[in-house]
Amino acid sequence: MARGLRRDTKPEIALRREVHARGLRYRVDRAPIPALRGRADLVFQRAQVAVYVDGCFWHACPEHGTLPKSNREWWRHKLESNTARDAHTDELLRAAGWEVIRVWEHDDVLVTAALIESAVRRRSGAGSARGMSRGRQS
Ligand SMILES: [Zn+2]
Repeated sequence: MARGLRRDTKPEIALRREVHARGLRYRVDRAPIPALRGRADLVFQRAQVAVYVDGCFWHACPEHGTLPKSNREWWRHKLESNTARDAHTDELLRAAGWEVIRVWEHDDVLVTAALIESAVRRRSGAGSARGMSRGRQS
């Protein structure tokens, strides 16, 4: 299965470029929290937003997901366990106070980038270094 899936796929790169163009800075391909072994594609550490770009095949996209004809049962099990792991990852992150944004590789990059931008700006607005209430007043 050396399909070169996880890292630096085209949709991922396009999305990173667009998000970067909007002035957002992020880490690439790293685990958002230590409890997680899986890596997110874009990690906004301060805003605590993790973005996953899910491949249509590997994450069983309802529109483009397919089951290979040979070894069908094995594949079914494999893809189902991927989906279950995704759900588990989301749960762990949300429990740790993170926002998880999961997009399909087929999703429109501009739409996705806008979604990410608003989430990150919303979450870094209050209580961050840019806020006025840093407690130095008195
Ligand atoms: Zn798809």
